[in-house]
Amino acid sequence: MKKDCLFCKISHGKTSTEILYENDTLVVFRDINPAAPIHLLIVPKNHIRSVNDLSEADQPILAEMVMVAKEMAAQQGVDKSGYRLFINVERGGGQVVFHLHMHLIGGWH
Ligand code: 5GP
Ligand code: ZN
Repeated sequence: MKKDCLFCKISHGKTSTEILYENDTLVVFRDINPAAPIHLLIVPKNHIRSVNDLSEADQPILAEMVMVAKEMAAQQGVDKSGYRLFINVERGGGQVVFHLHMHLIGGWH
């Protein structure tokens, strides 16, 4: 855990953020500034700055992020209508929180 990292704090239960799902590897919570009716963040507990910092050993984390996203989409009722999964990488890619996370957005009608 990186002491000054917001998503380290949230993923380790150090804030009042409501956690929608948690396992040993990652947590899921709502984006504070939603870009869609459903906007979740899938966040590994390990501090990894961005996709650029992933190593071979992190492959299971990535697989789990996608599998949990799929489950959360179904739980939130957007699986059939459809949704987007995306990861912003570094400043030029729109990343503002430098702790790896995947966005799940959907719920438009
Ligand atoms: P990025 O642009 O880095 O991919 O996405 C970071 C996301 O984190 C943004 O969509 C932003 O709204 C969200 N965010 C920033 N601070 C907080 C916070 O304190 N709590 C929650 N739940 N989301 C946050
Ligand atoms: Zn972190």
